[in-house]
Amino acid sequence: MNLLADLADLRQQCQTWRAQGLTVALVPTMGFLHAGHLSLFDHARGLADRLVVSIFVNPTQFGPNEDLDRYPRDLPRDLELARAHGVDLVFAPEAGAMYAPDHATWVDVPELGRGLCGASRPGHFRGVCTVVAKLFGLVRPDVAVFGEKDWQQLAILGRMTRDLELGVTIVGRPIFREPDGLAMSSRNVYLTPDERASAPAIRQGLLLVQQAVRGGEVDAAKLGLMFRSHLAEKLPMARVDYADFVHPEALTPVARVDAPTLLAVAVFLGSVRLIDNILLEV
Ligand code: AMP
Repeated sequence: MNLLADLADLRQQCQTWRAQGLTVALVPTMGFLHAGHLSLFDHARGLADRLVVSIFVNPTQFGPNEDLDRYPRDLPRDLELARAHGVDLVFAPEAGAMYAPDHATWVDVPELGRGLCGASRPGHFRGVCTVVAKLFGLVRPDVAVFGEKDWQQLAILGRMTRDLELGVTIVGRPIFREPDGLAMSSRNVYLTPDERASAPAIRQGLLLVQQAVRGGEVDAAKLGLMFRSHLAEKLPMARVDYADFVHPEALTPVARVDAPTLLAVAVFLGSVRLIDNILLEV
């Protein structure tokens, strides 16, 4: 497995592969890898001849009061996991190499980025789109794989790729969970033992709503209240940032759950912000 930090080296290696007629898959990450990331690698491995993984805690997608400085990092461990999962190349640049001091170009999909996480994290998706567009420009992958845990991100990147004709096939993969249902996240390590023990209530709340929808309830306001009261009871230390019912692709608010609808939630446990979602079937 190759480890590169230099942008020109990455570009050259990927160019060489393409010249040899090999296809390339890309999985962008911020590192501190867990089984959710690895499930993306395993899937991507089968989609192309070569697999590139980027590990980059992208500063432009963090707000001034967010956890950029304390975002967990462990590159040696990440490299071992990547090697064990058949990654051909890990790209782990310094922030200064990715962004020139006079970097001035931004990619934004405001229409899809206004609600959900975009509302509480202004500028977040502009940073995500810009770094992913840069990675696409460097690697020029045939296919890129993202997790449905970040559903809004996946929808936005799909739209960006289509609208800008970037020629990359975007593939989404299901949320990988701990055995008790908590969605895997690099941020889970920051939960206190109490918070960690109660955190599966988020997933249980989503399933409760799914059950009510199957039972015929269509009123999103009522269903939202059901999720919030479940959390208030089972996870009283939580603060719900949002619990929104939206169209799965347009991400526009939905009042009646009478067609497939995404319930997306973000919950603060102390200072740790966890997200999860469920595609409600009617
Ligand atoms: P991150 O390192 O958090 O930026 O995530 C990198 C990629 O892994 C993104 O496409 C995420 O959606 C995906 N991912 C993160 N957690 C999970 C999970 N629990 N299951 C599946 N994919 C995930």
